[in-house]
Amino acid sequence: MQFTTSSVAGGDYRMSTAAASMLAANLKGHVLLPGEAEYDRARRVFNAMIDRRPAVIVRCGAAEDVAEGVRFAREHGLPVTVKGGGHGVAGRAVCDGGLMLDLSAMKRVVVNPLERTVTVDPGVKLGDLDRETEPFGLATPTGVVSVTGLAGLALGGGLGWLNGKHGLTCDNLVAAEVVTATGDRIVANGEENPDLLWGLRGGGGNFGVVTSFTFRLHPVRRVLAGVVTYPARRARSALRFYREFAGACPDELSTALSLSRPEGGDLAVSIVVCYAGPFEPARRLPGPLRSLSSEPDAITPMPYRTLQSAADDGYPPGQQHYWKSGYLTDINDELIDVLIEFVSRMPSPASGVGLQQLHGAAARVDPSATAFPHRGDRYDCLILSQWPDPADSERNAAWTGELFDALGPFLATGVYVNNLGDEGDDRVKQAYGPNYDRLAALKTAYDPTNLFRHNQNISPLSTAPGS
Ligand SMILES: Cc1cc2nc3c(=O)[nH]c(=O)nc-3n(C[C@H](O)[C@H](O)[C@H](O)COP(=O)(O)OP(=O)(O)OC[C@H]3O[C@@H](n4cnc5c(N)ncnc54)[C@H](O)[C@@H]3O)c2cc1C
Repeated sequence: MQFTTSSVAGGDYRMSTAAASMLAANLKGHVLLPGEAEYDRARRVFNAMIDRRPAVIVRCGAAEDVAEGVRFAREHGLPVTVKGGGHGVAGRAVCDGGLMLDLSAMKRVVVNPLERTVTVDPGVKLGDLDRETEPFGLATPTGVVSVTGLAGLALGGGLGWLNGKHGLTCDNLVAAEVVTATGDRIVANGEENPDLLWGLRGGGGNFGVVTSFTFRLHPVRRVLAGVVTYPARRARSALRFYREFAGACPDELSTALSLSRPEGGDLAVSIVVCYAGPFEPARRLPGPLRSLSSEPDAITPMPYRTLQSAADDGYPPGQQHYWKSGYLTDINDELIDVLIEFVSRMPSPASGVGLQQLHGAAARVDPSATAFPHRGDRYDCLILSQWPDPADSERNAAWTGELFDALGPFLATGVYVNNLGDEGDDRVKQAYGPNYDRLAALKTAYDPTNLFRHNQNISPLSTAPGS
C-alpha cells in the first residue's frame, strides 16, 4: 500500500492511496494527491507568498462531494480548508497537511428574472455572475475586480460599485445551502435557520461550507462611470476635493480614490466614480471632477460589466501580496500629508493605497442586522502591496507596516475581515466588532469543535482561541 505523507501540526498524517481511492469512488469530482499533475495548480492561491501543501485536495463537483469531504476529514482527523476563488490574502484556503475542499469547479449560475434572484455555486468568480445576469438587465452588488472569488467575498461582506444604491453583497444574500461540520446539508433563509443566514452575512466561513448562494437582483444596465487622474502637484487638492465630493454624493453614486506611483513616475491620484441611476441628473457629475485635472478622463456611459472588469489588469496572478487596512470616517489634511509622503516612496509600482467608499444603502443597515457590523459612512482604507519578486518581500512589508502605523491615529475602530492577513485574535475581534459574542454563540451551535478554523476564526465558546 502506498502512502502520501504530509506534516501536520503535532505529527505526520499519512494517507493511504486506498483511503484516497475510497474517497474518490464516492465523488462526482476528483481527489488530487501530492505528485499528481493537477495538485500543484489546485493548491495555489492568489497570494504567491502562500505555498502550502495539503495532504489531499477534494476537487468538488457537487454539494454532496463537499459533505463527503467533510465526513472524510472528520474521520481521519484532518484539518479542513475551503477554497472558493482562492483570493483571500491570508491564504486560509490552503493549509499544510489538511484536506482542501476546492470548490473552484462548481460554477453554475441560475438567474430567476421573475423573482429577481440569482442562485450561484461557490466556485463562481464575480465576472461569471455578471455575465449571466447582464442579459436580463440585472445585477447584484459585488466587488470591483471581476476575477475575484465570489464565495469568500460574499461571506465577509462584499464592497463594490453598487453599495450606495443596493448595499453590500452580504446584504443581498437571501438564502444559502450549507454543509455543516457534521457533514449534513441544510438550508439557511428567512424561515429555516435564520440565525445561520444572519451569520453568513459577514461572519465568513466559520459556520459551514456554503454550496449555494441566492442573491437578490436589481435593475442595472448601463452606468455612468470612469476615472479622473490627477498629477502629483494636484494630489493634495484632489484629496481635499474628494473629501467634499464623496461626502455629498447621493446613493446612486459610489466612488473610490487611489494613490499610486507608476514605474519611474510620480505619485498620481485617481478618483473612480460609478453612477447607477437615471443619467440625466448625473450629466453634470464629471464637471467638478474635471475642473482639477488637465488629463483627459473616461467618464462615460458603459455597461456595468465593462466597469466591473476595468481594473482586472492591475491584479495579475503570481504576485506577492501584503495588505493592511482600516476604516476612515474623515479624510483630514494631516492624513493627506501622510498618504502623499508614503506613496511618493512606495517601493513597488504595482502597489497602491485605496479608499473605497461605503455609504448610502450599505451604511444605513443596522450594525446588528447582519454579521457585518461596520455601518455608517466610511472609507475602507487599504494599503495593497504587491510585487513580483520574493526577494523584495522584506522591503515591501516594512513599508506597508510603517504606513499602517502612521495611519493609526486616523483610523476608526474595526477592520474589514476580507482584508485581514495573519494579524492575530484582537484584529479578528475588531473585524466582527459588536457582533462577536453573538457570532461566537452561533459558532458554538454550528461548529462546536471548530472544524472550520482555517479562516478569520471565531472560537466556539468552550474552546480557547486558536486551539
Ligand atoms: C484582486 C482583489 C480584489 C478584491 N476586491 C474586493 C472588492 O472590491 N470588494 C471586497 O469586498 N473585497 C475585495 N477583495 C477581497 C475579497 O473579498 C477576498 O479576497 C475574498 O476572500 C475572496 O473570496 P474567495 O472565494 O476568492 O476567497 P478564498 O481565498 O477562496 O476563501 C477565503 C475564505 O473564505 C471562506 N470561504 C470561501 N468559500 C467558502 C464557502 N463556499 N463556504 C464557506 N467558507 C468559504 C474560507 O474561510 C476561506 O478561507 C479583493 C481581493 C482581491 C485579491
